[in-house]
Amino acid sequence: MKKWIQSLMSLVKPHDQDQGFIMSTYAPRPLTLVKGEGARVWDDAGKSYLDFTTGIAVNILGHCPNVIHDTLTAQSLQLLHCSNLFHNQPAIDLSKALIGKIGPGQVFFCNSGAEANEVLFKLARKFGHEEGRFEIITANNSFHGRTFAGISATGQEKVKKGFEPLVPGFKHVPFNDLDAIKAAKTDQTVAVHIEGIQGEGGIIPADPKFLIELRRWTKENKILLLWDGVQCGQFRTGHFQSYTSILNEYPEGKDFLPDAIAMAKSLGGGIPIGAAWVAKPYQDVLGPGTHGCTYGGNPLSCAVALAVMEEIDKKGYGPQMIKHAKKMKDRLSGLVEQGRIVAVRGEGAMIGIELKGQLLETRDKFMKKGLLVVPSANQTLRLLPPINVTGQEVEEALGIIEGNL
Ligand code: PLP
Repeated sequence: MKKWIQSLMSLVKPHDQDQGFIMSTYAPRPLTLVKGEGARVWDDAGKSYLDFTTGIAVNILGHCPNVIHDTLTAQSLQLLHCSNLFHNQPAIDLSKALIGKIGPGQVFFCNSGAEANEVLFKLARKFGHEEGRFEIITANNSFHGRTFAGISATGQEKVKKGFEPLVPGFKHVPFNDLDAIKAAKTDQTVAVHIEGIQGEGGIIPADPKFLIELRRWTKENKILLLWDGVQCGQFRTGHFQSYTSILNEYPEGKDFLPDAIAMAKSLGGGIPIGAAWVAKPYQDVLGPGTHGCTYGGNPLSCAVALAVMEEIDKKGYGPQMIKHAKKMKDRLSGLVEQGRIVAVRGEGAMIGIELKGQLLETRDKFMKKGLLVVPSANQTLRLLPPINVTGQEVEEALGIIEGNL
């Protein structure tokens, strides 16, 4: 490239350059991040921010933790990728760890949340195929990914518009409403698919009694209960899956277990990986040749995901986050009492503040003051800190929120 063009380009900020080269399916903030460490990121002008977006609920151990660096380095010197033509030890170790955390069953590995949900949809279709059952009931306001089945399952019109005809067989009902599910059931219904906490829908947690009754009813009716834990799972709420957090105080919910769980995001702590856990006795429904994924179960991602899980357990970050979350919710509830915000919802490192209005303006105001947060639905800002956020960082974030609402 000619020298004068190069020097001209160096004057252009990277986010300006994006406008010409990256497809405009997103509307990124006018901010180019160049470095991250723990709960902090730095932009290209050297300004630092407290990052309560964690790449939309991904960097569960914060930015660039040593454990990920060390595991990536070691595994990249050992074996990066070998496909599913062969076995590899990190995939076996990670699947064992996931089964240990969730329950008896088996695991399928992929790369993302949408792909993990596809496994659940295909599992349901295959399970009901001989009986002609294929309908899956999902919730209004849900979000299940951007593949065709993902947008068809999602209970939000905005993701579907312009892509019709969609994948048939998805029905939507109000969230937390078992009567609506019962009314929507037909002879063709094979599964109910829900998030534990609706992440894109405004941080709306499942109601504990609804979950307990839904589990009982789905079992009685031979209907699979599929769980989208992509955003709310993998320690995001402090427990490995959000149903443990939601049902914590309900002895009837002690043995609650879905029939399949979709995972991604926090699972890899920043390295792309998705997984579907399928409960015994459904693990053989998708048999040889029925599904596949070239990168799924690659040793690099699996080694990192396992190291992330072990680090969180070893350091006790789950209980620590639950304590921080209590403080955050208590303080933010004060803002509700003062009439400055509408509501506070969520668990652990997944808290939503429902505002009275001015969603994007408030997000931008926080950004100017050094706190990054993510909007969710029309009225809610999401606080998604890393699970190892410190008490001081929580205090700093609360200070910015309280001072700017
Ligand atoms: N399911 C839920 C609940 C999500 O929040 C998301 C992403 O935000 C997805 C599925 C899709 O995940 P991915 O973007 O990794 O495909």
